[in-house]
Amino acid sequence: MTNLHRISLADMAKENTKILLKGSSRELDGHNSPTVDDLTECLFFSPGDGRIWLEDQRMLLIHSSSFGLLRRELIDSLGLDKARDILTRTGYLSGMRDADLIRNRWPDSDPPSIFTAGTHLHGLEGVVKVETIHFEFDTEKGLYDGEFLWHHSSEDEEHIAAYGIGSSPACWMELGYAIGYVSGLVGSLVIFREVECQSMGHAVCRVIGKSAELWGDIREDIRFLNVTANEIENTTQADPKLNEMEPSSPEEQLRMIGVSAAFTAATHSLKKVAPTNATVLFTGESGVGKELFASMLHKFSRQTGPFLAFNCAAIPENLMESELFGVEKGAFTGATISRPGRFERANGGTLFLDEIGNLNLAGQSKLLRALQEREIERVGGISPIKVNVRVIAATNVDLRKAVERGEFREDLFFRLNVFPIHLPPLRERKADIPLLINHFYHHFCALHNKSPSGMTQTARRALFNYAFPGNIRELQNLMERGVISSEEGEPIDLHHLFRNEFIPDEIIYSVNDQGNLSHSKTKTEPTSSLLEHISQFVGTKDSIDIEMLERNLLQEAVDNAQGNLSEAARRVGLSRPQLAYRLKKSKQNNTEE
Ligand SMILES: [Zn+2]
Repeated sequence: MTNLHRISLADMAKENTKILLKGSSRELDGHNSPTVDDLTECLFFSPGDGRIWLEDQRMLLIHSSSFGLLRRELIDSLGLDKARDILTRTGYLSGMRDADLIRNRWPDSDPPSIFTAGTHLHGLEGVVKVETIHFEFDTEKGLYDGEFLWHHSSEDEEHIAAYGIGSSPACWMELGYAIGYVSGLVGSLVIFREVECQSMGHAVCRVIGKSAELWGDIREDIRFLNVTANEIENTTQADPKLNEMEPSSPEEQLRMIGVSAAFTAATHSLKKVAPTNATVLFTGESGVGKELFASMLHKFSRQTGPFLAFNCAAIPENLMESELFGVEKGAFTGATISRPGRFERANGGTLFLDEIGNLNLAGQSKLLRALQEREIERVGGISPIKVNVRVIAATNVDLRKAVERGEFREDLFFRLNVFPIHLPPLRERKADIPLLINHFYHHFCALHNKSPSGMTQTARRALFNYAFPGNIRELQNLMERGVISSEEGEPIDLHHLFRNEFIPDEIIYSVNDQGNLSHSKTKTEPTSSLLEHISQFVGTKDSIDIEMLERNLLQEAVDNAQGNLSEAARRVGLSRPQLAYRLKKSKQNNTEE
């Protein structure tokens, strides 16, 4: 138990999240952020490519009855205890993930709202409707105490359908979720117990959550989390070393970024072929990161020599041969000294030939010879030179078609195509986009010394749905532009990122207030009479009174939202605490005047 406590804290520290929260459900005033609406904005459907997202987590919409069947099969084949283990841990993981989402997405929310957000999410995910009786917490002391009612528990529905009313509670996965979510926020283990349950014949389920210390003996409770405990322990033991490692360069990190199936398949092939001497051909559109992959391949290889890159499209055709294979003095006018080409300089290492389709026929013959005989001849040279170079080639054109047109030697094509690796375009790696955004965001904020307050949901969603004709390089450029044009302390929005790029508006889906799937467009439109305000001040004064302008604008937003601060904050693109702070500040300034 003490282990688990320590581990959870370490787990939090690992994520670099220092949260000190104190408060209770009494501070909830009905206008808390994130609201259910805020949360539904995180859920979006991408019907065209078969994915559903909750922020950056891929979700599944499965039939409750199918889950019921899975649950019954688990119980029947593994026994009640083992099945309960698995389901509790599954729920625990979901709860932890959702806690991450809330912390990352609403870092400056009111503390009680952060806890309540989990109950909203649990409902949004269709699991259970949570009614809060009360809760209080003090994360500095690691203390939590709460009581809730669960209505319409999906797990009970399935349990009762399969086994009828029994003598023990059955909301295992839901209980695991509550433990995971609240422990994830508090930073130490909070145990929930289901003291009444529909599966026991009660009208609704009643759960009580308390810090492990407050419960006394919790051996029975953590029995169902034990494997998780062991797993966490194993990861934390490894973690300190990870934390002490030197931060790798952005390119280095970029190599490791990606969880999508398409990216994983490419990385897997790369790791397989790297330690061999095989020639590798990368195919894929521009900007997918072929050179990065090539240098990663070199890194994983046994080559001790250098990694040299050569872009066949960037060198004039008449210089191509001498650049690649070297030149002897007097070979042609201007060749006043002898010098080695890339092949010789890459000896013992890797030569990356990008856009190989642009290599002329003479160069192709020499390359074929280098690959077959492992020797080259300088331009104007008379004797062959032995080279030990691994060649990696890349192309964004279809070399087979170039062969058919007689522009590319067929024998060279087969020689290069020993181990082809296709690098997927970014639009086929959607799952990686949130990771890449996060990476570039932090990288460019540090590089340009900027500190925006994250990104708006509209901006994230637009990036997520954008087709990226220029692939990762384009995402990188957009993010750099977004960071540079962002305002201090303000989130990066759509207009910071996109200039002339085409963003089709039908690509943005969301769930509306009625729970229906629908288009959603930017919700942060300025309030109606902003322009009137501006023209009024610009027209009548020598200089614009920005403070008064802001004060009027914010007040109007609050009025339009009938005093609902969360709604007003959303309309002006601020978080609720930011808006509350600015209103307070502008009132103070007003009184001082
Ligand atoms: Zn229950």
